[in-house]
Amino acid sequence: MEEHDKNEKEQRSIEEDCSRRDFIKRATIAAMGVGLGGIQELDAGENSAEKTKAATKKTAPVKYLYHDSHVHLTSYVQEGTDIRDYLKIMGDKVGRSVLFGLPLQQKWSYLNSEDRAPTYYLHSDAHLYYYSFNDAMIAHEYNKLNEEEKKRFDPMITGFNPTDMYAVDHIKRVLKMYPNTFVGIGEFSIHKEFVSAKIAGEVASLENKALDHIMDFAAESGLVTLLHCDIDVPFGEKSPKPAYARQMYKLLKKHKDATIIWAHMGLGRIVRPHTRDLMHAKGERNPGHLEIIEYALKDKELGNLYYDISWDQVAKYVISSPESLQRTADLINKYPDRFLFGTDNVAPKEETYYNVYEMYQPLWDILTEEARHKILIGNYERIYDKAKVDVAAWEEKNRNAGKAKLLGENETPEEYILPHHHHHV
Ligand SMILES: [Zn+2]
Repeated sequence: MEEHDKNEKEQRSIEEDCSRRDFIKRATIAAMGVGLGGIQELDAGENSAEKTKAATKKTAPVKYLYHDSHVHLTSYVQEGTDIRDYLKIMGDKVGRSVLFGLPLQQKWSYLNSEDRAPTYYLHSDAHLYYYSFNDAMIAHEYNKLNEEEKKRFDPMITGFNPTDMYAVDHIKRVLKMYPNTFVGIGEFSIHKEFVSAKIAGEVASLENKALDHIMDFAAESGLVTLLHCDIDVPFGEKSPKPAYARQMYKLLKKHKDATIIWAHMGLGRIVRPHTRDLMHAKGERNPGHLEIIEYALKDKELGNLYYDISWDQVAKYVISSPESLQRTADLINKYPDRFLFGTDNVAPKEETYYNVYEMYQPLWDILTEEARHKILIGNYERIYDKAKVDVAAWEEKNRNAGKAKLLGENETPEEYILPHHHHHV
């Protein structure tokens, strides 16, 4: 979620290695062209990488590197990239992309920072607040596109407060105001290091009934849910268990009919993968991060649960050692249908947009062809194509819901006059 304070050194070293980067890009395009027929029709005889590359350049249909399942068009001060510029950055390398902003606005408090305008949540002690207009901004950007271009985007609703029992009403209102547009909700956050505690008002919780209502509605409407929830507190590595794993699992079990993507595999800049500690209690071994992930993947009831590996901060853990890389690859290879790649860029810029994909090159290199295709392309298409159909059906069915009925049409005076409960689903 944070391009801004990205480790500059790291970034520079990636950029310095430009020639290697270009090589990787070409090699990957070529390799995927060879390996993954079905998306791209290649001539049967063209099976060397060189020939494929040439063919790709000249005549073959566009072969995408990936679909971006996690990217923010706007920042914490609601500034961002024009959708036409983003489309240019995607070019012929990125096929489709989710489309959402950042619903949290960093307040510029004069009393806190005087004339210094904060552009990031760590620039100020002032509160963040939910900026619901972001959904209108996203719809506005989307509507700049022609029908062909629109097919490359999957807009998401984010401008609701997940502690508010009215959140579902906001989501429904956005669906009604912008029909045939939105296919998901999120990325929204429950626990996020340094952010959750800064948001004005009640702190978000996995135990909040308001969140249950949101998830119930996601299941009813078919909206894909992209949820950010740190699996642990920022400095919890000494504790035997990640702080929020249990509550999150409970939430997932309660809402197994909703399609949920757990962003960043629950990790953060400081929230690192839990490591196994042999000594924590009576000689028992507590589970490591990937084991906790696999526990949920194995659960037959949680077939609609996915993980995204977006964010350079997550890539940093995955590629940190040959063991970590191999274990991550093994898990994705074992459950190839359950992972998605995203960049987590904020207000994407040409110069840095592809860095996260490139950081993951060692992972792409050791995934099976099937797993690599699914995490980069296939799972995105399956999930969002289904959401398009399901949400359209919900919208069609509910097009006239909520419109005031005339008394006498279906209602008795008693029904009309007596106080009614405001309830969802
Ligand atoms: Zn996130």
